[in-house]
Amino acid sequence: SADACNDVVDVYPKMPPFDYTAPPYTGPTAAEILTKRKEFLSPSMFYFYEKPVNVVHGKMQYLFDENGRRYLDAFGGIATVSCGHCHPDVVKAIVNQTETLQHSTVLYLNHAITDFAEALASKLPSDLKVVFFTNSGTEANELAMMMARLYTGCHDIVSLRNAYHGNASGTMGATAQCNWKFNVVQSGVHHAINPDPYRGLFGSDGEKYAKDVEDLIQFGTSGQVAAFMSEAIQGVGGIVELASGYLPAVYSSIRKAGGLCIADEVQSGFGRTGSHFWGFENQGVVPDIVTMAKGIGNGIPVGAVVTTPKIAEVLTRRSYFNTFGGNPVCTAAGHAVLRVIERENLQENAHVVGSYLKERLNALKDKHEIIGDVRGRGLMLGVELVTDRESKTPAKVEILQVMDQMKEMGVLIGKGGFYGNVFRITPPLCFSLQDADFLVDVMDYAMAKL
Ligand code: PLP
Repeated sequence: SADACNDVVDVYPKMPPFDYTAPPYTGPTAAEILTKRKEFLSPSMFYFYEKPVNVVHGKMQYLFDENGRRYLDAFGGIATVSCGHCHPDVVKAIVNQTETLQHSTVLYLNHAITDFAEALASKLPSDLKVVFFTNSGTEANELAMMMARLYTGCHDIVSLRNAYHGNASGTMGATAQCNWKFNVVQSGVHHAINPDPYRGLFGSDGEKYAKDVEDLIQFGTSGQVAAFMSEAIQGVGGIVELASGYLPAVYSSIRKAGGLCIADEVQSGFGRTGSHFWGFENQGVVPDIVTMAKGIGNGIPVGAVVTTPKIAEVLTRRSYFNTFGGNPVCTAAGHAVLRVIERENLQENAHVVGSYLKERLNALKDKHEIIGDVRGRGLMLGVELVTDRESKTPAKVEILQVMDQMKEMGVLIGKGGFYGNVFRITPPLCFSLQDADFLVDVMDYAMAKL
């Protein structure tokens, strides 16, 4: 086989078998692409690994390089590939829709758009049933922030330190990590203390962190706010699951101050956390506005904002329009993704495999001092590396060494967190128990080599 590790070094853990061979690749080499990238793509577009992989083909939880070598995609794109690379049902839906009608705007009727909207609404609680389609998570969050401001007549928005909400000016303002910020006007956004059980000021005491939001409303605003916006598990921030009890207490304070609660489900939605379809459900709250993107299209660019009919009314004051939002090819893809998640029980799989994987990672923590923390839920897991468990000094260099070694052995994994020292494990939800074993065995081997 041409698997990245299996026949290369005998002592490496063996990648689970997969009955599929990628078609031969005849395109440009990695070196040729890299040269063009350096010349023609913005230098802001960074890549993983000193020698980045030339990804030419994808099938379910695997990617293939130019030599037909197979890699386990433990990052799932960037938590974007929910049901598996090129899942046949999603591909079929995209091809059928592309051959039928590639583009229609919301100015006309088209059932691909309404069918997906109806299906999305059916997955949300309460009367969260009015859908606005966008092309990305950033756009979805920009719209959510604007809606909250219009609805409440207030400007102040509370978000969390360490949050990532997007890269346009409003969402960059709501994002709270200097790594991801330029000098944008950050009008009216207040960042609360992050309810981070590992590094946060109050450990895992969700209610103490929630008190900070109450203070922030009293001392940093007029006492009235437009919204609170947060992820349930911070993705880019390093898979930080908000301390338990935090969201119910904060939602209550925000509503007392006249604000709306926005759940950014761009990474944590669509079954990824296993125990529930949406991340916010893990804290038993019901938001007023839910935003989503990434996994909802299995990698096809589609995002959405879902809210109540009453809140949605505010956008009828003017024409509100998005040229590509609700493109029928994207909505057909999204609808197919939902059907696959349900038919293949992918949420349940995320729960079963994710729980097993977390257990194995915790056992690995007992073996390797460099693992400071294992956290997350379902198939949204984080492994934080530190050079010293007491001081929690981020192992910024070591994580790169482990990551490189894992690549050599056939596993691609994500990395993030403020210090860049957290492995982000967000594979396609079809990830199997054998894949989980392989991932942990490879990580174990790579850490032992440090
Ligand atoms: N919100 C969250 C939680 C995200 O993780 C991201 C992207 O990483 C975004 C919003 C922005 O989404 P996009 O990159 O599609 O604009």
